[in-house]
Amino acid sequence: MSLATIPRPTFAEIDLDDLAFNYHSVRDFVGEGVEFMAVVKADAYGHGAVECSKRLEAEGANWFAVATLEEGIELREAKIAGPILVLGGIWPSQEFPLLNFDLTPVVFRLDQAESFAAAASQQGNIARIHVKIDTGMGRIGFRADEAEQIATDLAKIENLEVEGIMTHFASADDLDSTYFTNRQITAFADAVETFHQLGHRPKYVDMANSPGAIVHPLSRSKMIRIGGLLYGLGGDVLPEGVEQPELRPVMSIRSKIAQVKTVKAGESVGYRRLFIAARDTIVATVPIGYHDGLPRTLSNIGHFLVRGRPAPIIGRVSMDWTTIDVTDIEGVSVDDDVTIIGSDVEDIRAEGIAGLTNTISYEVTCGINRRVIRTYKPEKL
Ligand SMILES: *Cc1c(COP(=O)(O)O)cnc(C)c1O
Repeated sequence: MSLATIPRPTFAEIDLDDLAFNYHSVRDFVGEGVEFMAVVKADAYGHGAVECSKRLEAEGANWFAVATLEEGIELREAKIAGPILVLGGIWPSQEFPLLNFDLTPVVFRLDQAESFAAAASQQGNIARIHVKIDTGMGRIGFRADEAEQIATDLAKIENLEVEGIMTHFASADDLDSTYFTNRQITAFADAVETFHQLGHRPKYVDMANSPGAIVHPLSRSKMIRIGGLLYGLGGDVLPEGVEQPELRPVMSIRSKIAQVKTVKAGESVGYRRLFIAARDTIVATVPIGYHDGLPRTLSNIGHFLVRGRPAPIIGRVSMDWTTIDVTDIEGVSVDDDVTIIGSDVEDIRAEGIAGLTNTISYEVTCGINRRVIRTYKPEKL
């Protein structure tokens, strides 16, 4: 970390040993013979794609998945050597950069396959793609019931290799939707069979995301594509009560108290005076706000940890500051450590914050702004 100035003490600590633990925990759970694609899109769900990918590559991850060309280039420039899948497809003029950085695109339109193959031909290269089949997600992908036509059209394109074929689950995390997940698995198997009949030989046939891999063994196939579980975010992606691998949260958010003051009974704290002190209240102000990714909807809700004790958030979360009530915590002073997410005697999980703010843990960790400096444990690989 090189910085021109000394930063304020608001950090996201990423524990790479816990990341590695989760990786092996999931691998052991699904058993041998299944390759592992580490989904590191969105800066590894906010955890830092480069550092996480380096560690996961050292641990043996077979593939990496990113959302965009830029995310793929970032990994290549960091010397990630393993195969990288770009989930977001191909946009015009991205063909050559994809080829030059050896990035494999997901393809969900015929024109993408054509332009990519044409670019590869110009280089005397082969265009390797992974074909996305839509079996019920209704988002991107060729419709499964058009597999025959698509497989036929793709087979006519020279210089094109369908290296992979994939689909994505809509509701693998919901046990009440198991019938739907099973229907997706069957529709996908049919599409894969059709591709085979029409001469394609995809090396990779994959569908399982985090809940798929754990809850629906049939979906593991030859490779699983895992994001959330790697970062220990199992709490709101896996249904309760199912057998599951042990997971550890990877990200902690910590800061320090910038000011401590007493607000008298009847006085207010923060914008719109959302908090009115019912008693003389000791308020601690912490340098983290909604720009950092702390949801503004936590205003007057939830808590941080100070000295191992819960300190309720009071008043409105503002852009750069949040105020907490430390009246009931003995001896609090400026510079005391504050845990926003993580462990300090008690635990605060991203899942818990998500529960309070009507979202999922993925959005909480993805939302931690780059302004919050990431530190890594251990520091060097
Ligand atoms: C994001 C993503 C995944 C990973 O999902 P998790 O629930 O985080 O494991 C897998 N496949 C595709 C296509 C994705 O976009």
